[in-house]
Amino acid sequence: MREIYEQLGISPEVYEFGSKIEQLLKDRFEEFDRTAEYNQMKVLLAMQKNKVSAECFNSSSGYGYDDFGRDTLEKVYADTFHTEACLVRPQIACGTHALAIALFGNLRPGDELLAPAGKPYDTLEEVIGIRPSSGSLAEYGITYRQVDLKEDGSFDYEAIKNAVNERTRLVEIQRSKGYQTRPSFSVKQIGELISFIKKIKPDVICMVDNCYGEFVDTIEPSDVGADMIVGSLIKNPGGGLAPIGGYIAGTKECVENAANRMTCPGLGMEVGASLGVNRSFYQGFFLAPMVTKGALKGAVFAANIYERLGFPVIPDGREPRQDIIQAVTLGSPERVTAFCKGIQAAAPVDSYVDPEPWDMPGYDSQVIMAAGAFVQGSSIELSADGPMKPPYAVYFQGGLTWEHAKLGILMSVQKLAEKKLVTLPDPGSLL
Ligand SMILES: *Cc1c(COP(=O)(O)O)cnc(C)c1O
Repeated sequence: MREIYEQLGISPEVYEFGSKIEQLLKDRFEEFDRTAEYNQMKVLLAMQKNKVSAECFNSSSGYGYDDFGRDTLEKVYADTFHTEACLVRPQIACGTHALAIALFGNLRPGDELLAPAGKPYDTLEEVIGIRPSSGSLAEYGITYRQVDLKEDGSFDYEAIKNAVNERTRLVEIQRSKGYQTRPSFSVKQIGELISFIKKIKPDVICMVDNCYGEFVDTIEPSDVGADMIVGSLIKNPGGGLAPIGGYIAGTKECVENAANRMTCPGLGMEVGASLGVNRSFYQGFFLAPMVTKGALKGAVFAANIYERLGFPVIPDGREPRQDIIQAVTLGSPERVTAFCKGIQAAAPVDSYVDPEPWDMPGYDSQVIMAAGAFVQGSSIELSADGPMKPPYAVYFQGGLTWEHAKLGILMSVQKLAEKKLVTLPDPGSLL
């Protein structure tokens, strides 16, 4: 084993360090195995119940009327997430697009959108109109209100109660922390928040941005009262095989409203050719619990490796996981660069490419990104990015297999060690 790792560029010292850390994570990994096993059964149950057959993999073109495979897949998603309906389409370009059609489809002029748990994901700022943008919800007369989390990261129930008013129509809660420093919310916490809001105003629509959260737990926000959950197929539920797409699962009314926005009023879910992606969508969804498990193992491995090397990590090495993102504060631009070069060097695609920081549109500092993915921008695949500004943190996620995630993390340590930017612990001190 050591030899094959050496051929890949991992020194015996780094390999040994990784092995020691891995040995300490047996119980955590078993916990992830059990969650994945449960979720695998959940997906299988939904596939069997809906009698998925070879016919489902057929392609449609043009209008896509009566696309049996597409319609059956939407039932499989709905049954897995325990919702009345689901929209799962390649016409949904990305996660932001899925979130935008869910919002535009369910809000009307004069309504108010409430974010009760802090600012939504960056890309939603222009959708909502927090940052002025042509075609935003704000331009259609939909107002926005936000309640920030309390200092300790908990929900500010008093302020939420005061923020809900007669115009509050839809509440948006983001499960994963994304690029913020707050902790990600557990499904249970989200359920408590939804109950609280529904008690104040029963008919308000509760929508959860579920990106990066699918299959991390045995329950989803739709199991604890969410009217709509929304996500991207180039993250967890696509299982690495979906080449594009997004989903909106929820009540029939909410999903149909979103579909009317995705296509148009009157056409809704009836049109939308599947263009040959059905098989990848099914197979990816089937694999998604396992792929998510691999990414979780990678995240926990990285947390423990970098904690042991003396860096602050969020979440820490022992905390329960709510999503697949791992943040590591490396404290210097040289370390951020070396880390990303390591992730890149471990990739199956473009491993020979050397990532450099660049001025990415929409960011206020240079950003360095590492991704050697089969699907462009897919972040269920092993990837990392770091804004080149204090505190010099990298955000790391994905890995289609645990073994690949492991190599990526070891390679990041290798690059840091070669540049003498970290000191490996004395092997004797580890067990
Ligand atoms: C990735 C992500 C999005 C946006 O998805 P894109 O596919 O990048 O448009 C929204 N919310 C969260 C929490 C995400 O992680």
